[in-house]
Amino acid sequence: MRTTQMTIPDAVIERAYEGKCTKEDALLLLNGSPFELFKLADELRALAVGDLVSYVVNRNIYITNKCVGNCGFCAYRTNKNSYILSLDEILEKAEEAQKAGAVELCIQGGYTPEADIEFYLEILEALKAEFPELCIHAFSPMEVNYAAELSEMSVKEALEKLKKSGLDSLTGTSAEILSDRVRKIICPSKLSTQQWINTIKMAHKVGLSTNATIMYGHIETLEERLDHIFSIREIQEETGGFSEFIPMSFLPYNNKIGEEMLASGKFSSTGLEDLQLLAISRIILHTHVDNIQATWVKLGKKLAHVALSCGANDLGGTLTEDQISSAAGGSNGEFVSPQEFEWMIKKAGKIPMQRDTLYRAVKARSPGRAERLPEKMEEKNRSEIWEKKKWGTGNKRSSKIQL
Ligand code: SF4
Repeated sequence: MRTTQMTIPDAVIERAYEGKCTKEDALLLLNGSPFELFKLADELRALAVGDLVSYVVNRNIYITNKCVGNCGFCAYRTNKNSYILSLDEILEKAEEAQKAGAVELCIQGGYTPEADIEFYLEILEALKAEFPELCIHAFSPMEVNYAAELSEMSVKEALEKLKKSGLDSLTGTSAEILSDRVRKIICPSKLSTQQWINTIKMAHKVGLSTNATIMYGHIETLEERLDHIFSIREIQEETGGFSEFIPMSFLPYNNKIGEEMLASGKFSSTGLEDLQLLAISRIILHTHVDNIQATWVKLGKKLAHVALSCGANDLGGTLTEDQISSAAGGSNGEFVSPQEFEWMIKKAGKIPMQRDTLYRAVKARSPGRAERLPEKMEEKNRSEIWEKKKWGTGNKRSSKIQL
């Protein structure tokens, strides 16, 4: 006998299924039972991507910890022991990654006068010449704007050159919270909300995919979090260029904003809030952005595992190193093996799929992964399923951008 009933109004559920969740709906859902919220998000996840849960074998490369920025949440930039990797060092790290079975290099760093557009182009061209099969997911709208200014060119020109030199996907970082009130406090020298949006739209326009991120759990209000997610939806409606959405909880250690919060007795977000934000992201972005990532490096592996039943369909990357989170007090490690990802996914009752940056299914290249495909499921079938469901394929969004 059924003992519980969903209390979410039918109209709210209908709008969610149609991809038309409103801000009022989102607030109602967040103020209601978290278990009903998770259930609805899980249903929409199943509709969007089925039971495939993806991850990418990748490696982060931090090209420099120098930065002229002054973000109050940053524990990464430093004046002491600062470095800029040489081209040889970058190539060495890429070679290690390739030998370990990586299909993606994620290249990040601060913005600094030494890094103009030519600096980034040289890195891309060298990497593509040596490792043409590796996807390069790199640089942020902030780095591109700063470097374009140094090189005295427009952002459009900079993005076109980056793409031509081998950039496969621009990162959607430096979004933090898309609210100028918040940005003035936490990252006053970064791009404004509108500049971030303009850069992302331009990237999509020149044919570069990007992901979208939100960094929450500091000084922003709940409404500002929601406005951010709705901004991502609006951009996606216009361009179709986002590959995924990644909620990232703020890590409050070793940085000014975090220290102030800790002193006032606030400790970033709770696990429940993390799951609620992930679930509401799935609901708001339903029919717009198919891939919602549970990022284990912020959530921890166990909460990321639970997130697979609350709307998430991707576990992100194996990483190899994560200087940014570990500097800010992250304690979840810097590497998860493909084997462990697959175990986590199967334990959640889902089907693991190794992907590349653009959510295309890839053949396993990791050493020691003898049995990757689920029983009775050929690679071809699995790719076909994914092909139908992945972002940009066979829906109205795909006509807006050719990648
Ligand atoms: S978060 Fe990035 S942009 Fe901001 S100060 Fe740190 S390294 Fe610089």
